[in-house]
Amino acid sequence: MTTPTVRGSDPAQTIANTPDDADDAPRPHVVVIGAGFTGLSAAWELARRGARVTVLEADPEVGGLAGTFEVQGERLEKFYHHWFTNDEHVNDLVKELGVSDRVVYRPTRTGMYFANTVFRMSSPVDVLKFTPLRFTDRLRLGILALRARAVKDWKPLEALTAEEWLIRLGGREVFRVVWEPLLHGKFGPFASSISAVWFWNKLKLRGGSRDKTGAEMLAYYRGGFAALADSLAEEVTRLGGAIYTNRRATGLCVHDGAVTGVETPSGTVAADAVLATTSLPIFADLVGPHTDDQYVESLKAVDYLANVCLVLELDRSLSSTYWLNVNDPGFPFVGVIEHTNFEPASTYGGRHIIYLSKYLPEDADLFRMSDDEVLDYCVPYLERMFPEFRRSWILAAHVWRARFSQPIVTRHYSRMIPREDTPVSGLHLTTMAQVYPEDRGTNYAIREGRRVGVRLAEQLLGAAQRDGAGATATV
Ligand SMILES: Cc1cc2nc3c(=O)[nH]c(=O)nc-3n(C[C@H](O)[C@H](O)[C@H](O)COP(=O)(O)OP(=O)(O)OC[C@H]3O[C@@H](n4cnc5c(N)ncnc54)[C@H](O)[C@@H]3O)c2cc1C
Repeated sequence: MTTPTVRGSDPAQTIANTPDDADDAPRPHVVVIGAGFTGLSAAWELARRGARVTVLEADPEVGGLAGTFEVQGERLEKFYHHWFTNDEHVNDLVKELGVSDRVVYRPTRTGMYFANTVFRMSSPVDVLKFTPLRFTDRLRLGILALRARAVKDWKPLEALTAEEWLIRLGGREVFRVVWEPLLHGKFGPFASSISAVWFWNKLKLRGGSRDKTGAEMLAYYRGGFAALADSLAEEVTRLGGAIYTNRRATGLCVHDGAVTGVETPSGTVAADAVLATTSLPIFADLVGPHTDDQYVESLKAVDYLANVCLVLELDRSLSSTYWLNVNDPGFPFVGVIEHTNFEPASTYGGRHIIYLSKYLPEDADLFRMSDDEVLDYCVPYLERMFPEFRRSWILAAHVWRARFSQPIVTRHYSRMIPREDTPVSGLHLTTMAQVYPEDRGTNYAIREGRRVGVRLAEQLLGAAQRDGAGATATV
């Protein structure tokens, strides 16, 4: 299936018309804004605990940043996606939904493009063979990875930038060759202010997703990540919840300091509680008219980068590497990800799938180019990187853009994270900008969504039982 089941009456009507409301004792109604993994996980926990749930999603499909499109009848992520073997919250979820058989674990080959050459970087032995560094620096690079993974208490790292910490651990030359281009490629103007905590997390996660030989193993969901989002959405609707796609929340209704509903272009949805899972700038616009400027400013203090992914369907493979870090500041993208070196090309009718990814400020030229311009801009770089590559190999090209794709984690980020309970009673906020010290990812979206769903259900249903009516309860 490509779209989730949508149940329930139109949310523009009053919630008293939802099918579940036939019960004698009305149950509290929670509106969740956003049907990414955070929103769906929260809705699932709320629905299975007896709350009435309506999810409003602006996009035509559920899945959020992990959403998909079709290639040869098969769903493929708009933005490359995999899990790490240590992503425990995803594993728990797929087990509970009874869909573990769709998760596949596979070894992946990682590489680094540096000085016009592709170096393999999949295992500790590859690091020792990385000739752009002197042998002593290769050892330092290997030891750096081990030392980073040994860090258990991240709090002292809060005061350091990634640059300061990486130089301290591995020296200037390792930083110059390996880390600096990656930091600049990924974070552009923010590179020098990125927190050591963010980088520590990346090293820890990626370094922990390995088999006994030290080779990297990653996980994928057959049918694409959105197929898992669909399973969650189906569970929500089976439990009586309603999910509306193409339904953007445009405002909030607040009375006497408590949220009472969500405005959409087709009317207002009444609510006892609202959980927003959108990016902070979108939430700031929704909540702005109902709170003071200081709160709105605190939401806007977290910067985000946008992302552009050019997805190419090729008639043949580009290389044998799955994940190629581009450590060349002259190149406009930070990664070349050959997805079909992970999930076989046969899944996509024999087509080989390449992602070219670039994080960038939303006012950057590349973000504003038309799809054809993005393709024309990127192809010459691909030709330089892979001299045998010909444009005629491209069978189809797709360009996907996400405005709020990566929160910028700077020093002392813990002081910037907004609280889950907002100044408006009954209005809650759970987003990927709050998973710190972890970085955004579906694993943490699921963890946080489930946690807040349980918490709100306990508060609301407890209140409903105590009061004997949930319709006016707020938390
Ligand atoms: C390029 C890229 C690569 C990634 N790779 C991986 C990976 O390999 N593995 C991994 O686990 N994670 C990866 N991620 C991250 C992962 O996709 C996200 O962390 C995760 O999906 C976040 O889920 P979420 O529900 O918190 O947010 P989102 O997915 O952003 O969901 C928020 C939802 O809210 C909706 N929305 C926004 N405004 C409104 C409104 N006003 N009304 C109604 N709905 C609204 C949006 O349309 C969206 O569906 C990647 C992300 C990017 C950008």
